[in-house]
Amino acid sequence: MHKLDDYRGIVGDKILSDITRMAKNIYGARILHINSTYYGGGVAEMLYSIVPLLNDVGIETDWRILRGTPEFFTVTKKFHNGIQGDKINLTEIKKKLYLENNEDFASYCKIDADCVIIHDPQVLPLIRFYKRRQPWIWRCHIDLSHPNNELWEYLKGFILRYDRIIVSDKKYIKEDLPIEHTVIHPVIDPLSPKNMDIPASLMAKTLKKYGIPTDKPLITQVSRFDKWKDPENVVEIFKLVKQKADCRLVLLGSMASDDPEGWPIFERIKQRANNYLTKKDIILITSEDNILVNSLQRASAVVLQKSIREGFGLTVTEALWKERPVIASNVGGIPLQITDEETGYLVDPYDLRRCADLILSLLENPEKGKEMAARGKEHVRKNFLVTRHIYDDLDLLNKILNQ
Ligand code: UDP
Repeated sequence: MHKLDDYRGIVGDKILSDITRMAKNIYGARILHINSTYYGGGVAEMLYSIVPLLNDVGIETDWRILRGTPEFFTVTKKFHNGIQGDKINLTEIKKKLYLENNEDFASYCKIDADCVIIHDPQVLPLIRFYKRRQPWIWRCHIDLSHPNNELWEYLKGFILRYDRIIVSDKKYIKEDLPIEHTVIHPVIDPLSPKNMDIPASLMAKTLKKYGIPTDKPLITQVSRFDKWKDPENVVEIFKLVKQKADCRLVLLGSMASDDPEGWPIFERIKQRANNYLTKKDIILITSEDNILVNSLQRASAVVLQKSIREGFGLTVTEALWKERPVIASNVGGIPLQITDEETGYLVDPYDLRRCADLILSLLENPEKGKEMAARGKEHVRKNFLVTRHIYDDLDLLNKILNQ
């Protein structure tokens, strides 16, 4: 596990000394994070780095995971989709499953902390099943800008019990919630296996192990097989590109334990990709392997993130950090990271032709991509590395615990 000092060469002295100073006021405070999966998405990815680093600076930080039934995760995935704007049939059975799984968890998870941080909707109702002795914060990582109304009214019943909400961007602040909001941008860890520098030999060995040839330029999207990440249209874009340039598409998406929709979407992609799969021009991978993510992102000629909705999009941050040219949709948290033609390309998620043309132009003129990518890396260094999150967490905890 890394210590705060390990980041000094990357982020400089100032932020480390600010962090040390802010931690001093709340040394020994006990913080508990709760979410619903330990791998396969942005939340788990961040907690892996943030929890040990907060401990390193003297904040006693713990992390627990709700063990839900498959039916529960089917319901919570529907809630996730509903928050991002999908229609939902909000039946009493769904509500019952949602509450029962949270209540069961509460019966064996004792809380002894000075502050509880609850991540995303899966574990939102937990607050109903505890006698509160400390501030509770709801940390929402999803795009909250177009929630389904009926669902939002239902979830508000739980959210209103919280002391504060953390959102990933100021555009997710909900005017109808009379609760203080704090904006904390998601971050990546530059020293984690997923983002650390790796030797070319390890990269080559890893790509070989997963059957990814590097004889043609690689176009990639690393994302859960989720309809909001729109992998099916990534395949369609690739087909347009392939008419004019020889290249390969790799879609890498591990199956998170709290996301039951991955396999059906994967099957649909297989059908669309059909002949391309046989020729290995499209490669689909579902393994969970951080060194593979790292190697693949580094080996890509172009990284795509063709989301229709995106809370923040850590995969964009990861690719920018590795100085890769990124083409991503102009949705959710992505424009915080990409300024069009400056640090990458922003596209309308429904304009497949333009996305294909931009890929072709980057394949023809890699220099332009390199310049944008170098600026992208600097932008990430300044704004979206884990030390920044630790700083923001301590700032918030100082406010809350010293109130
Ligand atoms: N991820 C991964 N393996 C995969 C697909 C995704 O490790 O096969 C990681 C990805 O590298 C990133 C996180 O999962 O760190 C996804 O975060 P993002 O914010 O992009 O999307 P989310 O899944 O949280 O909606």
